[in-house]
Amino acid sequence: MRASKMYLYTLREVPAEAEIASHILLLRAGFIRKQVAGVYAYLPLGARTLRKIENIVREEMDAIGAQEIKPSILEPAELWEESGRWTAYGPELWRIKNRDGREFCLGPTHEEVFTDIVRQNVTSYRQLPVQLYQIQNKYRDEARPRFGLIRSREFVMKDNYSFDRDVEGLNESYQLNYDAYCNVFDRCGLTYRPVEADTGAIGGTGSHEFCALCEVGEETILYCDSCDMAATDEKADFRDAVFPAEDEKPLEKVFTPGTKTIEDVCNFLGLPQDKSIKALLYQVQVTNDDPIRYVAAFIRGDRQVNEIKLVNALDTPEFALTMADEAAMSAATGCVGGFTGPIGLHDCTIVVDSELVNAKNMCAGACEEDHHYINVNYGRDYKADIIKDIKLLQEGDPCPVCGKPVKSARSIEVGQVFKLFDKYSKALGLTYKDENQQDQLVQMGCYGIGCSRTMQAVVEQHHDDNGIIWPMSIAPYHVIIDLVGIHDETQVALAEDLYARLQKAGVEVILDDRDERPGVKFKDADLIGIPIRIVVGKKAADGIVEYKLRRGGDVLELSADEALAKAVELVNAERYGK
Ligand code: ATP
Ligand code: MG
Repeated sequence: MRASKMYLYTLREVPAEAEIASHILLLRAGFIRKQVAGVYAYLPLGARTLRKIENIVREEMDAIGAQEIKPSILEPAELWEESGRWTAYGPELWRIKNRDGREFCLGPTHEEVFTDIVRQNVTSYRQLPVQLYQIQNKYRDEARPRFGLIRSREFVMKDNYSFDRDVEGLNESYQLNYDAYCNVFDRCGLTYRPVEADTGAIGGTGSHEFCALCEVGEETILYCDSCDMAATDEKADFRDAVFPAEDEKPLEKVFTPGTKTIEDVCNFLGLPQDKSIKALLYQVQVTNDDPIRYVAAFIRGDRQVNEIKLVNALDTPEFALTMADEAAMSAATGCVGGFTGPIGLHDCTIVVDSELVNAKNMCAGACEEDHHYINVNYGRDYKADIIKDIKLLQEGDPCPVCGKPVKSARSIEVGQVFKLFDKYSKALGLTYKDENQQDQLVQMGCYGIGCSRTMQAVVEQHHDDNGIIWPMSIAPYHVIIDLVGIHDETQVALAEDLYARLQKAGVEVILDDRDERPGVKFKDADLIGIPIRIVVGKKAADGIVEYKLRRGGDVLELSADEALAKAVELVNAERYGK
């Protein structure tokens, strides 16, 4: 491609809307442009890189026997009613109506549709297993789209669905996909880690997320260097502390004026924070027509609540849980601002962290202004509606598997695999007849990769102050030839010759033949991140060019033939990724 003919518009200024390097660079380098909040257009360079990522994904899916289909983005509400997700998916579901008032959504994910497609044809064990996938735009009306392609309202996802006769088959399909995901992210040049994950709105049990490690990631993962424990903070188990044996002392109400925080009350009473109980007040409401359900969650004063564990304990969709309107909750349940404890609460669901059950002689709010109880003991003084581990595992806490202190890292989730078992086949009636003519439920798995998010995650991991540094496998072009003297016949002839020969060798090349100063061309080449740069300048008369890799290393002066051979060799070695 000749740069003079390309729809290439780089920006000198940092766009105001972008906060992180990868977003700034994709905008500045002319890969994407914002259309509306959370919705982006891919310009030619962006479209090429996105297509390369999609093709890597496609090759790896095809290699495990999955077959690509192209269903509609429009999904009828009835299918979502069948699975129960029309309500449960919440406000992220992009609902629309046609002229007759029939309801649809723009697909955020396609479990229902793929289950429906398979139930139309599959009736016998002989037709299983089967895997079907698509690479398609997805729509989620995210509350806070941010960071460009990382959290957008329209994004490109590959979603694969596996259909097996039994759990053993599902486990095999799951492993095939897991391994294919490792290949995909290796080939895209990402540094990532597969970790155990919560299943969220997709449902099912048993899941891994593939997390690209980087500081700006919204996701926290926890891992252990002493064993192979690795999980998202949403998922990570927490080992309950073991407390020294203690006799239960008599319950006592104490005056604790103005001590609204755990720190205040513990300082006031001279207690360590692990001797206190912290209250967190929530409300749950799935639709506006539902009554509000109040929830008081209790954990040890020095811990944090893991809201995903809480959501799971309450068996409610994530979006339905919000912090309580304290005045309204106080009137309904007897809770009192910073003085709420489990004793004296009524008309609300009391969730108690498992650790508190064996914690003796604790301090807790008395549900009375300026008062706490001391020597509070579970069983004798209060009871729970739900006892579950609702603690957030954090850096330095003991590993739930081996007990050594865990480490944490920030990451971007680029893919997730789920075992769905019979969740959707049961809801939608997807069965097959086994060898004995008995009806059996199909066991399903689903597997998603955010292709557009992956594109930006790669930039987040591969850039410097001057711009993007694409891995060869997904670079929009492999080589850029910077022609310095566009009016110098010798230089033009050499550059054109190299351009033609590289293309003939199957290399994707930009010839920067624009009427621009060399400095501008070099800056643009660095910004858009093409892996190999060949500069044709004054030494063209001697057949000499400059050869330089975007990822670093020396600038080499080579004969045009040597530069060509070197470029072709490197491109062929790296174009398919690791
Ligand atoms: P998140 O927790 O980040 O909201 P998710 O767990 O809801 O994501 P999945 O349903 O697992 O997402 O979707 C599969 C993949 O699609 C994710 O791993 C991610 O790469 C991508 N993805 C999900 N939501 C978005 C989004 N809003 N913008 C871009 N990519 C997304
Ligand atoms: Mg996910």
